[in-house]
Amino acid sequence: MDPNNLDVVSERNFDLSKHTTYRLGGKCKIAFMPVTEDAAIKIFYKLSSRNERFFVLGNGSDILASDRFYNGSVICTSKLNKITLDGDILNCQSGATVAQLLKFCIENGLGGLEFLAGIPASVGGLTYMNAGACGKFISDVLVDCKVFNDELHIFSNKLCDFGYKYSTMRDINCLILSSRFKVKLSSEAKVKDNIRQTLLKRMAQPKGKSCGCVFKNPNGLSAGKIIEECGLKGFRIGGAVVSRAHANFILNEGATAAEIYALIGFIKARVLERFGLRLEEEVVYIGEFNDTFG
Ligand SMILES: Cc1cc2nc3c(=O)[nH]c(=O)nc-3n(C[C@H](O)[C@H](O)[C@H](O)COP(=O)(O)OP(=O)(O)OC[C@H]3O[C@@H](n4cnc5c(N)ncnc54)[C@H](O)[C@@H]3O)c2cc1C
Repeated sequence: MDPNNLDVVSERNFDLSKHTTYRLGGKCKIAFMPVTEDAAIKIFYKLSSRNERFFVLGNGSDILASDRFYNGSVICTSKLNKITLDGDILNCQSGATVAQLLKFCIENGLGGLEFLAGIPASVGGLTYMNAGACGKFISDVLVDCKVFNDELHIFSNKLCDFGYKYSTMRDINCLILSSRFKVKLSSEAKVKDNIRQTLLKRMAQPKGKSCGCVFKNPNGLSAGKIIEECGLKGFRIGGAVVSRAHANFILNEGATAAEIYALIGFIKARVLERFGLRLEEEVVYIGEFNDTFG
């Protein structure tokens, strides 16, 4: 990669712990922060065609990165954050955060995305994970997204094949460059009020360093309730603690990533033993971890 290329900012020995909401993770070889979509495509193409080890980092709010050195690269989307409006369609580059998105919606009196308030994510991460809250999901508002794998594609909402914590982008090695959302004309006051209501509903959520919910809810059940019924609220391994407010949150109270990982394994083993259920992680692992529990 040409270090003189002005369309890409790069950082060697990039510290993942500074870029994940868990505030955990070792350093990695190099991070590329493209400023334009063309530059992002070039980097992605080079890394994937050379079969180099890399991953795409959004806002790091659903990632548990290993404490060890990650011997690979990171494509960090944070500088791809333009938001534009065309009629009732909002075009958002993948690195735009929910905070930036909602600020734009307030300033322009646009409704429909207020349910995202409080999710500390980027547009790319939201789209990839089909994130949602209060019974609404990205799939309810997404028109289409621009995706690069071996070539550039526009994936319609239908082609994204959204499901619970699922989009088709999870099954292909790809870079989401931007997403388009349908919004509706509202007023600054109304949008602000809806955001306030959403944030109020989230008040009871655990405070502290976390990745939100660690596990997916198994068919019609609440992973949090199941973990609570195993008597694991407040249970800890080192600095990794099952939240007392919501048992599907594991908090980093001075933990290592290895301790969070061990606690996740312990919970899975306990739930399997007690209920015969295999909990599945929502959190995405980056790097190597040692398996200790089933
Ligand atoms: C306090 C807290 C509250 C939360 N509340 C909610 C909630 O209410 N609802 C909910 O659904 N989630 C919630 N989450 C989880 C998380 O915010 C979401 O899963 C979010 O969608 C992750 O977005 P991100 O940008 O942080 O992605 P990251 O964590 O950076 O990445 C997650 C995955 O997406 C991939 N990815 C990210 N960007 C791109 C891209 N541009 N192209 C290709 N792949 C990409 C990454 O490679 C990784 O596999 C919460 C997390 C926290 C910490």
